[in-house]
Amino acid sequence: MPTSTTTLMQRLEAGPVICAEGYLFELERRGYLQAGAFVPEVVLEHPEVVTQLHRDFVHAGSDVVEALTYYAHREKLRVIGRENDLEPINRRALELAKAVAVESGALLAGDICNTNVFDPNDAASRDVVRAMFEEQVQWAVDAGVDYIVGETFSWAEEAMIALNVIKAAKQTAVITLAMHRADVTRDGVTAAEACKRLADAGADVVGLNCIRGPETMMPMLKAIRAAVKIPMAALPVPYRTHDKEPSFQSLCDAHWHGDWGARAFPTALDPFTCNRFEIADFGREALALGIRYLGVCCGAGPHHIRALAESVGKHPAASKYSADMTKHAFLGSHERLKSVQKEYADKL
Ligand SMILES: [Zn+2]
Repeated sequence: MPTSTTTLMQRLEAGPVICAEGYLFELERRGYLQAGAFVPEVVLEHPEVVTQLHRDFVHAGSDVVEALTYYAHREKLRVIGRENDLEPINRRALELAKAVAVESGALLAGDICNTNVFDPNDAASRDVVRAMFEEQVQWAVDAGVDYIVGETFSWAEEAMIALNVIKAAKQTAVITLAMHRADVTRDGVTAAEACKRLADAGADVVGLNCIRGPETMMPMLKAIRAAVKIPMAALPVPYRTHDKEPSFQSLCDAHWHGDWGARAFPTALDPFTCNRFEIADFGREALALGIRYLGVCCGAGPHHIRALAESVGKHPAASKYSADMTKHAFLGSHERLKSVQKEYADKL
């Protein structure tokens, strides 16, 4: 049974839907998840912090609780030597997400992603990828998800396999591509062409997530918008990517070098973080294009999600605490503020 009385497609028909992503980065910052591997072992080891983050994102305005099954797939679990925990991790992640969806009325989303074993020159890899998707999708179906996200695909063909598996399970499919520095997928098609193929093949929502920040994702979103008629998704990373460094992996810090050089990804991206106003600008611009499935990916904090939700006219619970600088001790305008305070404002 779905957790919500309205479906994703009904909600998108009615207006924007916010989906918070970026769980791996936020839990890494909080000290419960290892960068590099980026496997959500946290759902077994510290389930309470996953539940809290789900709640934090819903409080901030997410209409969706996305189960933390990103990279909880067979290949990644092999890399960290925990393949035996594959099913427990998936089922636990879905259970934690479902509990928060039920208590809050949010939609529950299952999640599958890039497998890292797809190889266009290896026909057998397609079967391996399909089998990896099938087992994760089945666990999501068992949990009663409202829909399934297939995300961060940089091979258009791998995204198509994910779509086929999700649709074979009779689930609503949100498929988002991850575009790196090149303006084409790794198999050489534009994001617009890849999304058109996915839409023609039955995807319910298509678009982009991760890798690119607002500035370098937006031009591609416009091209996709011109190519497809179905609902679109846009979930950038909250980092100041630009023409010369269009992906967050390519961002180099001019003020600081690690032992490995100037690459800031993934644990030194702080100085590149978009502020909430930049995310709000992105939300307004995307909505004006008719893009209604909106979120923020790796790097997102609850303040980004709140700003995004408010930018498209929503008033989440956390808006109770949105800034009101009229009450600030120096910069405010409240009648109780003494002039000795206001006059000092320029010296702060
Ligand atoms: Zn991401």
